[in-house]
Amino acid sequence: MKSLHIGIAGAGPAGLAAALYLSRAGHHVEILERYERPAPVGSGLLMQPTGLTVLDDLGLFERVRALGSRIERLHGADARSGRTVLDVRYDAAPGGRYGLAVQRAALFDTLHDAVLVAGIPIRTGLPLAGTAATGSGVALIAATGDQVGVYDLVVDTSGARSPLIGGSAVAPKVRDLSYGAFWATLDGGAARYDRTALSQRYDRAKVMIGVLPAGRAKPGEAERVAFSGA
Ligand SMILES: Cc1cc2nc3c(=O)[nH]c(=O)nc-3n(C[C@H](O)[C@H](O)[C@H](O)COP(=O)(O)OP(=O)(O)OC[C@H]3O[C@@H](n4cnc5c(N)ncnc54)[C@H](O)[C@@H]3O)c2cc1C
Repeated sequence: MKSLHIGIAGAGPAGLAAALYLSRAGHHVEILERYERPAPVGSGLLMQPTGLTVLDDLGLFERVRALGSRIERLHGADARSGRTVLDVRYDAAPGGRYGLAVQRAALFDTLHDAVLVAGIPIRTGLPLAGTAATGSGVALIAATGDQVGVYDLVVDTSGARSPLIGGSAVAPKVRDLSYGAFWATLDGGAARYDRTALSQRYDRAKVMIGVLPAGRAKPGEAERVAFSGA
């Protein structure tokens, strides 16, 4: 394939990882981000073996592994009776697989640093509002109405509610939900929780809370826990 000029909308984990792969494949890539400074969003997340394989392929696994918490099991119980409702163990399948819980900052910083080292430009402070077909490719249009670049290909990693969806050939359907979620990154301190599991408690199917040991944001920092509720 000839080398393409590719614009990536959004500097989250997906945009940064896509930029690394496309750049390594020989394409000329730039990332466009709405925030003035790219930064991690949210608390902790649990990376599954597929995501860990991608990090390994990018040569970034060791740095993230050293910061994260190895997760062996997903365990959920009814909050009133204590009855186990969910019990999924990674070692139920062969292959020595496991999950890795990380603070988003640890994942973001690792990918972001790799993008900087690769010399991939990130243009910030550019909230994108749409696309337009031009004679020479696809133009990205900023919220100001200005055309900010023309590309052979646009990769949209800005989220399900992206304003670029109208220009996509494979637009996903977005469903509004009648419930919300909150989460916080806390000091686990002396609290008693399973340090190798994502632990959840359910009040029927209506309320869920969970505790995820989320490792460190940076080397030398204290380990934290991600607490979530929905
Ligand atoms: C409570 C909660 C818990 C979650 N837990 C997990 C988990 O355990 N495991 C997991 O894998 N996932 C989890 N997720 C999902 C998680 O959000 C995604 O996995 C991850 O953030 C997706 O990365 P992304 O790069 O696709 O999107 P994002 O991280 O959302 O990045 C999108 C980027 O695009 C930028 N952007 C958005 N709109 C525009 C625009 N118009 N113009 C320019 N830039 C724009 C944003 O500023 C952002 O930098 C969770 C989400 C929530 C809310």
